[in-house]
Amino acid sequence: MSILYDERPFHTRVKDVMDNQFKVKAIQKAQDVFYTKRKALVEQVPAWEEFRTEAAALRDHTLRNLDYYLNMFAENAEKAGAHVFFANSDKEATDYALEVLRQKEAKMIVKSKSLLTEEISLNEELIKAGINVNETDLAEFILQTDDWNPPSHIVVPALHLERSKIREVFHDKLGYEGTENPEEMTRFVRKFIRKRFLTANVGFTGCNFGVAETGSITIVSNEGNGRMSSSIPRTQIAVMGMERLVPDLASLDVMMELLVRSSVGAKISNYFSLITGPAKPGEADGPEDLHIIIVNNGRTNVLGGEFNSMLRCIHCGACMNICPVYRHITGHAYGSIYPGPMGAVLTPLLVGYEKAGALPYASTLCGECWEHCPVKIPIHELLLKHRENIAEHTNVRPAIEKPIFKTAATMFANSFLYDMGTKAAAVGMKAVAKDDAMPEWMKVLPVAGGWIKSKDMGTMKLHKFRDVYAKYEKNKKKGTF
Ligand code: SF4
Repeated sequence: MSILYDERPFHTRVKDVMDNQFKVKAIQKAQDVFYTKRKALVEQVPAWEEFRTEAAALRDHTLRNLDYYLNMFAENAEKAGAHVFFANSDKEATDYALEVLRQKEAKMIVKSKSLLTEEISLNEELIKAGINVNETDLAEFILQTDDWNPPSHIVVPALHLERSKIREVFHDKLGYEGTENPEEMTRFVRKFIRKRFLTANVGFTGCNFGVAETGSITIVSNEGNGRMSSSIPRTQIAVMGMERLVPDLASLDVMMELLVRSSVGAKISNYFSLITGPAKPGEADGPEDLHIIIVNNGRTNVLGGEFNSMLRCIHCGACMNICPVYRHITGHAYGSIYPGPMGAVLTPLLVGYEKAGALPYASTLCGECWEHCPVKIPIHELLLKHRENIAEHTNVRPAIEKPIFKTAATMFANSFLYDMGTKAAAVGMKAVAKDDAMPEWMKVLPVAGGWIKSKDMGTMKLHKFRDVYAKYEKNKKKGTF
């Protein structure tokens, strides 16, 4: 599974990001824009919290009855004329897609944005098989043209690239001679991609939600490329995660109410396609042949377990638009196609703690992600659960951590030890402090160094609030306060 595009140590990735302040500033600016837009729109929905509760319950209900709804979806999609294939692994999914391409003698495909196709490494497999692959979402197109530059956000994947860089890429790779004006560059890409839509044999799309009651798939998009990919080529292959189902159109309505507001701070998306089977006789557009690949790829290992609620995720990106850690380290520090808080939970589940054990620690556990998540995923609690599992069952963390936290736990649980310990620490800190702060040389120490590397840490005081309060209580009893 290649959801990790950067397997270097977490700290190395963070350092790389911090050295590129444009990237950090771009993310911070985008977070502020998303935050303001989302806040304004959410405030217009007085029943927002009720919607969130209903959506969480809906997702849980669907997950509890997933086998039932998957069968219903497949049956109805087939009745409408689609071919449905259940892929247990990424390989099964890509093999099936390649077989369809072989039967169609397809040499060129167009693709709209889909995280799942990245998860199953669809592009890599198609390219290996000699297929001409063309991303058509503007941001994905930019990343592909820039030699498959990795994405940094699930909704706005090319957020880290400045205009001048995009212009340079277009100039070098596509012979673009215009300015770095975004509209001019977009017009250029539009013309360029349009030819590809007209020549491609097959269009690949993702699927935001499958509707069990009708067997329909949905594509929510702000660019017309989703609709073009699904309606111009003669064959459409839609790839859908097995958890991305809603029971019926009424449930879809609830999810749509939340999805677009949460992801880009808009009431509706520019395009919303509901596709039920291939084009019927006499219909002007739509594919002649529609294949829906329903992908498991490890999801059943999560289903019903301690991380089950993560499967509620509707990939809106709201958690990364609010996360203070994502704000500073950006999507690239996570090294995964799933960045931010949702990625910190999901990536270790998909690739294991050995490879992604650092991610659950990339969080302040402030809970803002949960507050903003439209389906109320308790991300901070799941991150803690990961940390617990890592500490209990792996050797991923430095060996020194366990005795340190054991000692701290004993101390915090005992008032006398806490008092003595903090007093001893205050004396110790005072002895090494320089200008009432920890000295430079301490930054190289293991564990302690991490606390003071990027911020000034003042010394603990001998005289603490609890001393003042104890004195106050004593005097109150004596009636002298
Ligand atoms: S975890 Fe919640 S907020 Fe984050 S992407 Fe998924 S649904 Fe959106």
